[in-house]
Amino acid sequence: MDSRLFRTAMGKFATGVTVITTAVDDEIYGMTANAFMSVSVDPKLVLISIDEKAHMNNYVKSAGKFAVSILNEDQQDMSAYFAGQLKQHRTVPFNWFNDMPTIPNSLANLTCKVYDSVIAGDHTLYIGEVTDILIADGEPLTFFSGKYKQIHGPAEVK
Ligand code: FAD
Repeated sequence: MDSRLFRTAMGKFATGVTVITTAVDDEIYGMTANAFMSVSVDPKLVLISIDEKAHMNNYVKSAGKFAVSILNEDQQDMSAYFAGQLKQHRTVPFNWFNDMPTIPNSLANLTCKVYDSVIAGDHTLYIGEVTDILIADGEPLTFFSGKYKQIHGPAEVK
């Protein structure tokens, strides 16, 4: 089967957008991800899927923990930046929450310790046990067919 057809079909599944963050030897790393889902309530588990080629894969493996920041509709720029689409380096003002770096002003921040991991083809699935949660009001940034959307219409170009 053609990979483009597969990607196009998967893009028909509308999602929110997150930034996964972790810290290794006092260095912080971030990566945009929409492969995120809730897995279990007891215990509280979530799942992320990281490309084997992404730097973040080794960082999460070494740290054994990660944080998930669920982006709001005004954080498209943050998503593009942590997807490596904006080439100019930035100094990002991370928040520290439960000893983990997170993206400030997100809809939710979750800190997680790695509960299990499975290599699945060209990605690694990390199941995280949620250790703390911070939530805020707002509307989500969404992603559909390779484009950012807002719940009430197209996202503003920033
Ligand atoms: P890098 O290229 O190393 O980092 C990304 C960018 O963040 C770089 O510009 C880097 O300089 C900057 N950066 C990182 N840490 C810091 C810091 N501490 N301070 C300042 N700048 C920093 N890939 C997946 O594997 N799984 C997914 O679920 C997924 N979902 C995606 C959803 C969307 C909407 C998009 C747009 C992309 C998605 N990607 C996903 C692709 C992924 O975000 C990119 O391929 C990413 O660049 C690869 O991660 P990396 O760790 O190699 O990042």
